[in-house]
Parts: sequence; structure tokens; C-alpha cells
Amino acid sequence: SLPGYRNFARQAKIDQSFLAIPDAKLAGEELKTLTAEPHIAASPEDYKTAEYVAGKFKAAGLETSIVPYKAWLNMPISVSVEAFGSNGAELMKGPVPEHVDDDPYQSDSRVTPAFNGSSPSGDVTAEVVYANYGRPEDFKKLTDMGIDVRGKIVLVRYGANFRGVKVYIAQQYGAAGVLIYSDPADDGYFRGDMYPHGPYRPATSVQRGAVQYLFKYPGDALTPGVASRPDLPASERLSPQNAPNLPKIPSEPLSYHDAAPILEHLTGPDVPHGWQGALPFTYHVGPGVKVHMVLKMDYKYRTIWDVIGRVKGTEFPDEWVIAGNHRDAWVYGAVDPNSGTAAMLEAVHGLGALLQQGWKPKRSILFCSWDAEEEGLIGSTEWAEDHAKELEHAVAYFNTDVGVAGPNFEAAAVPSLKEFIRNVTKEVPSPKGGTVYDAWKKSDENEEHHRSGNGSSTHSNNGAAAGAAGDVEVGDLGSGSDYTPFIQHLGVPSTDVGSSGPYGVYHSVFDDFAWFTLNADPTFVYEQEMARVFGLEVLHMADADVLPYDYVTYGKEIADYLDAAQKSAANNNVAGLDFSAAGAAVQQFIAAAGLVRQKQDHPGADMAAFNAKLRQVEGDFLSEQGLPNRPWYKHTIYAPGEYTGYAAVVIPGVNEAIDAKDSARAAAQLAVLTQAIQRATATLQAAAQ
Ligand code: GLU
Ligand code: CA
Ligand code: ZN
Ligand code: ZN
Repeated sequence: SLPGYRNFARQAKIDQSFLAIPDAKLAGEELKTLTAEPHIAASPEDYKTAEYVAGKFKAAGLETSIVPYKAWLNMPISVSVEAFGSNGAELMKGPVPEHVDDDPYQSDSRVTPAFNGSSPSGDVTAEVVYANYGRPEDFKKLTDMGIDVRGKIVLVRYGANFRGVKVYIAQQYGAAGVLIYSDPADDGYFRGDMYPHGPYRPATSVQRGAVQYLFKYPGDALTPGVASRPDLPASERLSPQNAPNLPKIPSEPLSYHDAAPILEHLTGPDVPHGWQGALPFTYHVGPGVKVHMVLKMDYKYRTIWDVIGRVKGTEFPDEWVIAGNHRDAWVYGAVDPNSGTAAMLEAVHGLGALLQQGWKPKRSILFCSWDAEEEGLIGSTEWAEDHAKELEHAVAYFNTDVGVAGPNFEAAAVPSLKEFIRNVTKEVPSPKGGTVYDAWKKSDENEEHHRSGNGSSTHSNNGAAAGAAGDVEVGDLGSGSDYTPFIQHLGVPSTDVGSSGPYGVYHSVFDDFAWFTLNADPTFVYEQEMARVFGLEVLHMADADVLPYDYVTYGKEIADYLDAAQKSAANNNVAGLDFSAAGAAVQQFIAAAGLVRQKQDHPGADMAAFNAKLRQVEGDFLSEQGLPNRPWYKHTIYAPGEYTGYAAVVIPGVNEAIDAKDSARAAAQLAVLTQAIQRATATLQAAAQ
């Protein structure tokens, strides 16, 4: 149960009025409008969607503006990939445009050819080496086999990590270029029927995507830590050659239609165990095939547009409650991201109805429609960097990206908001019957903590916490969506919600309204569900008398992370690490959190001061210097892994040093972490007074 943080009778009435408004049919219409045209960031069609969203925000009574930033972006001028066998015969010439027998949207002339955001231009001819998922262990395996990828084109398959990580490791190993393809084993016919007969990836479908080194920093590549406002002078921007998050080697995504002839003709050793995909031949690592890839990219500063809609809080106008979703898409973006946008618009619709009934929130509410997320979380990061000062006392950031890909509710959050999100879902009806919470619990039990989608992590705590609490699992925040600048750069407590299902057309032309209504949510009832969940998150946080953060759970999770890290240190033979100070600090944190928890039920008179301290705890987890080699990431408990990208690495400074078997760095990072826990503990102790 939650702290007694609000007037339940009053809140229940507001919740009921709100829940009645989000409309399935309207969500469907909004989704159809948003996805009528390809609307990649910085395009005229993208601007049209900004105006559309701004219109909806205004109609609901939000004070709305379209906020431009400049983003250093590449668009493809031309892309060519040709492969030749050892006898010089041409094996393939591509890429072939994406097409299936029957899709109403595929032939639009504004569909951009598949490419990687942040890839440099390049003209490379080289032998191909197959490197499985392009994980550190995959490259190490090649080295052990005596295969050198220096000067080669590395062919990797999608899955297991963020695509930028694949390129990053390939670059470290000296590769000349990277091809990233979608194997049918991972999201194609090996999983189920292909679109248009089912939800999985057809032969010519390509996963576009950013290869920006987002685990160094996201946002505009040339302005880490600084808002790329239109008027920011050139002297305060990096030059592209010096931008640490831009890859140095060219890369290009491929369909399996185009990758298969390359793979099929690779000779050399059979692949190691686990590397075989689902194409109908035995995979080899190479040599035997030469590829000539030519990428011509048009790099320049382009204007992007966030849409920000506000309602001013009556009691605590400076305490912002922020809800965001990105609007830009690689092509049509029916699932990613506009299923989330339609849900957000229906949440705003519900909020508008409350405003009309005379309700006003205690805290300020901001709804944000981010641009250029696909190229590297750019719209959200620039806005967050722009408002870093105000965000020091923002009470929450709520994200949804892929709002609806299917019927299975999922959430990730900082530990302090895990119980909060579970409570929200107990109030929302599920199309499956019962509440969203009931349905979530059922599928969680069936899945036995199997996580799909964003890969795996050696140091993610998923599963452990849920097992301990015996409740539905709320995951940890890694990266790959717009919560990253809020939680990991600025320490704003964050959540991320969505509803998943079989989804094999990610980042392809086929993620369109036709695919969506066939596969994801034909009657838009899951859109309605997401609108209600997203909206209730905002309402509860905006009107809470006492902020509903749960620091007991936070402390217990940190204690678990420390135990796991200590074992990992032993396994990695990293000697001389003394965990006792950190362990003592976290026990004090948990004790103080228990006292605070009691006070949350029975707060004294000075609620504003109490709330300010409660909020400050998350900020205390930030370290001034940030993580080693990636100072933009300031959070000492959560970061995207340098070698996962998507999946969270917990207590990252410590765990990554242990993985690198660097005991001096691990000791230093353990000290930084201990100080952060001690700061947070002191704040909790002061709050409990
Ligand atoms: N969500 C996008 C992706 O997974 C963008 C991630 C990023 O570049 O930060 O490709
Ligand atoms: Ca920036
Ligand atoms: Zn997205
Ligand atoms: Zn995306």
C-alpha cells in the first residue's frame, strides 16, 4: 500500500471524472491522422504533426508552444551495397526498396531509404566477417578463433543490444564498416507469420535506427550538456570530428533479403554455437565475400520542434509534473511512437474535461511532444538541458514511447515509483476484464520474468526485486527513450509505460496504420487503456499532498545491487574492494526511509518543506563528476550500459569497473557511490525529523 498521501475521496472523484473521457475511437482517429504521411524529424510533415498536436493541446486548455532546437542530423543522399564472391561474381546489389504484396502505404515517395542516423559517409570495399549480435563476447570469440576484423566489413545481426553498441565495438576492433541486418530468427518468420499475413518482419523490411553512441551522451551530437537553441553561437558547439558520440566508421542496416546472399556465400569456419540464425543454410564467419558499400550522407544543422503544453499549478507552480512522448518517426511510426502520441492526446483530452469542470492541479503539469527521438533522444535532451535549473525540483517525468504494440502492459521506473505505477494500474479497467494490474499480474506470472525487446544485461536487477516482493515486476530504466535526460542526467524520478505484443516491423516502412489495425489494437481499446494509465500518473502526482515516493524499496534494491556487485567482484578476481562502508550507508538509508514512510502517512504542518526533501533524495544520487569517460551521465544508481545501450546497468560506475577488472577504478567508484548514498540518507534523516 501507498503512503496516505492524498484525500482519497476527493481524488477518487477526480479519477472517475477523468477515466470517463479517454476515447478509443478518437484515439484511432488521432493515430490515423498522425500517421497519414512519413514524418521523419525536421521534415515539413513532422512540422505538420507538431501543429496538429499543438492544436489538440490548446483545445484542451493547455498553454502551448512549439519550441525549436537545432540538431546536427544526417539524411541519406544515396546508399549502395554490392557484394561479390571470391570469383568476383556479383552476389547482390542493393538495397532493394521495402515492399510486400499488399500494403497501402509502402510506395509513398517521401519514404526515406533505410539508413543509420549518425553514420558517417563512406566508400569502403572489404572482406566480410560475420559477428553474430556484435556483443563484446562475440568479438572476443572471433579473436579467439584467430579472426582479425581490422579493415573488414563486419556483418552483425540485430538483437541483444543497442545497434550503436555494435558499431562502437566494431570500431574499437578496427573494422572499416558495419552492416546490421534483421535475422528471421529474431523478428521474422522463425517467430511467426510475416506481414501482411502476421505481425513479423517480411523479407525486404529494414530496421532503420540511430547508431549514435548514446551511452556516452544523447541529444544533439555537438552540444553535450548544453541546449542547442537556435541562437547558440557556433563557438559553443563542438566540431563533428570532435563529437565523442559520433561513430567514425560507416554503417548501414539491411533486410534479410539483402543480407542472405552475403551470408550464404561466406566460407571459412562454421559459426560458433548460438550464432546460427534462421536462414536456410549453414552460417560461416568468412572470408569468401567482398562488399562495396557507398554511403553519401547530407549532414547539417536542421530545425526540430518540441511541443510543450502547460497547466499552471495553484499551490506549487514550480514543482513540475512532466509527461512526454516522441512524435517523430523513421517513417509512419504507427506503433513507434504515435501509438503513444494518440494515448497522450486522449490523456490530454481527459485533463481538458477536468479543467472545464473547474478543477485545477496543485502542481504544474507539462505535456511534451518530443522531436528527433529516433536520431538520439534529441528533442527531449535539448529541452531538459535548456531547463536543467527548473528541473531540479520537477517531481516526476512520465514517459511513453511505444504506447501500444499489443495487449501486454509493461512498466519500468525508478524504485521510488514502482509501487506508484502499480497503484495507478489498479484503478484502470483492462479490455481483458478486471484491472490493468490484474491482467499485468497474470501475464507476468505466465512469462516467468522473461523479458522481450530491449536485450539483456549482466547487471540489470529485473526479476530479483519482483521475486522478493512477490508482486508484478517493474523494470529498471536503461535507455533508448526520452526518460534518459530526466533521470540519468538530472535526477528527476521517472517512469516508462507501454503495452507490448508480437511486433516485427520496428523502424520499417510497415510500422503503419494498416499493420497497427491488423495486429496491435484493431479497436483501439489498448490505446484507451494507455491514455488512462498515463493520465492517472499525472493526476496523482500533480495533486498528491505528500509526494508518494517509496524509499524503502529504493534502499532495498540498492542493497541487492551491492550484494550482486560484491559477488561479481569475487568472480572477476577484482581484489581489495571494501564494501562495508557502502553496505553500512545503505542500511542507514533503509532505516531513515522507514521513518520517512511513517511520516508520509502522518505528515506535519510543513508539507512543502517535507516534500522538497523527499524530492531531493533522487538528486542526491547524482554525482558532480558523472561516470568515468561519460560525464554527462550523473546518476550513480542507473545508466545505460556501455555495452548494452538499452538495458540498465545498476550502480554503473562500480559494476563497469569490476567488468573491466580495474580494481583502482572500482574502489574510487565505490567511494563516489557511498557518498551519494550518505547524502541521500542525510536528506531522509532530515525529512524524518
Ligand atoms: N529509441 C531509438 C532507438 O532505439 C533511439 C535511441 C537513441 O538513439 O537514443 O533506436
Ligand atoms: Ca545539447
Ligand atoms: Zn520510439
Ligand atoms: Zn524508435
